[in-house]
Amino acid sequence: MKLDGKVALITGGGSGLGRQSAQLFASEGASIAVVDIDPERAAGTVDLVEQQGGKAIAITADVSVEQEIVDAVAATVDAFGKLDIAFANAGVISRGGVPSVAGGEVVEFQDLTDGDWQAVLGVNLSGVFYTAKAAVPALRANGGGVILATSSAASLQAYHGIAMYSATKAGVNGLVRGLSLDLGRYGIRVNAIAPTHGMSPNFLMPAGSPVVGQSYEETAGPWDSGISPISLKLNRPPSLRDNAHAALFLVSDDSAYISGVTLPTTDGGTLSRVGMWF
Ligand code: NAD
Repeated sequence: MKLDGKVALITGGGSGLGRQSAQLFASEGASIAVVDIDPERAAGTVDLVEQQGGKAIAITADVSVEQEIVDAVAATVDAFGKLDIAFANAGVISRGGVPSVAGGEVVEFQDLTDGDWQAVLGVNLSGVFYTAKAAVPALRANGGGVILATSSAASLQAYHGIAMYSATKAGVNGLVRGLSLDLGRYGIRVNAIAPTHGMSPNFLMPAGSPVVGQSYEETAGPWDSGISPISLKLNRPPSLRDNAHAALFLVSDDSAYISGVTLPTTDGGTLSRVGMWF
């Protein structure tokens, strides 16, 4: 068991990669604090972890509000006595531009609002900052630990229509690099994973792809027909499982001397070429 006796807090734990990671980390012996803005999703993950014989609690919090994640860390320590792993995974896709599809709506970059910008910045970058900041006192009290953030391949490569999202995820990479230097002296490692796409039923595919505006579950056709360069590279689409196992590696002692990296987890080699679909 790679996480025997560990306590892990996972934001965005109620769906997609967060849920998959909660189940995987629990199967490796960790107790899980499932943090999500949506209480039903968080409770659903707790049910799944308990069904497999693991321990988990549900915590409702909005990671873009600092006090809510401070309270979530305190509730985790109250319930399980300590914190070893903070996985800042919650994220939202942005409305895009030129032209982009968000929730079925085409929007030009010039028509985006400050509200659009603040919404994606607040969750994707401030949320990681607040989660790391809230976790550090508990991790230091524990003699060290791990902070892992979910970035994106879009932080490393351009995709049409999600410039704001890309910017927030690139900010995550910078935060991780800087914090790894500042927190190493406390025995805290800080890394990020950079998934590509097609991981979650709740996350829309990027504009410009052959599956614009469709969710992962609706994209089986394009994957199966081999349109995706990823499936051409490795003969199958990436999965939540692929990303969760990369996350497990980076929160476990298997990566005990890795800090400050952003690891592309499901690019299947495509980041080494120019463009994906375009
Ligand atoms: P998802 O939408 O299935 O899950 C995200 C979860 O985060 C949801 O349960 C949602 O309720 C929760 N959440 C949203 N805003 C929140 C907030 N303010 N506070 C707390 N919880 C909040 O998405 P996913 O695909 O599992 O995404 C997980 C991470 O992976 C995100 O950071 C996302 O940016 C990143 N990512 C996803 C993809 C993809 O294609 N799915 C690709 C690259 C990176």
